[in-house]
Amino acid sequence: MEINKTLSIIKPDAMKSKLQGKILDYLENKGFKIIAQKKMRLTKKQAETFYAIHKDRPFFNELIEFMISGDISVQVLEADNAVSHYREVMGNTDPANADEGTLRKLYGNNIQCNAVHGSDSQENANIEINFFFSKLEVIN
Ligand code: ADP
Ligand code: MG
Repeated sequence: MEINKTLSIIKPDAMKSKLQGKILDYLENKGFKIIAQKKMRLTKKQAETFYAIHKDRPFFNELIEFMISGDISVQVLEADNAVSHYREVMGNTDPANADEGTLRKLYGNNIQCNAVHGSDSQENANIEINFFFSKLEVIN
């Protein structure tokens, strides 16, 4: 096992439902160390850049509008196999298909408003961490 980092976002639906504290508590209990964190509101341009990989998907415009509809809370998390561990505890993209006890099952509303984002590979985690945080902002 290797200790590494992943990027987490608590999305606008969960922030509006005041679930930030519950989600952070869940993540700490699952063994993640929060080594950087910020609350922010994405601009349209920032959201489009972050999700550029999905720009040709039919849900892209809706996704962007959702992601800029309210504040988000962004974390860098450290753990053993952080990327795969987070994907496991996050659950399926669609909360209806997510396993019991996963974040999206517990707190997601639907396939779009699904409470959290987690990086899908170490390469993307590094890109996403650098998108949101400078080196100075991450505990090392
Ligand atoms: P994940 O977040 O599980 O990695 P994707 O990378 O496929 O999922 O999609 C990115 C985000 O786009 C999802 O978390 C969700 O908010 C939104 N999304 C994905 N598929 C759909 C869909 N079919 N309809 C609406 N929104 C979607
Ligand atoms: Mg994804």
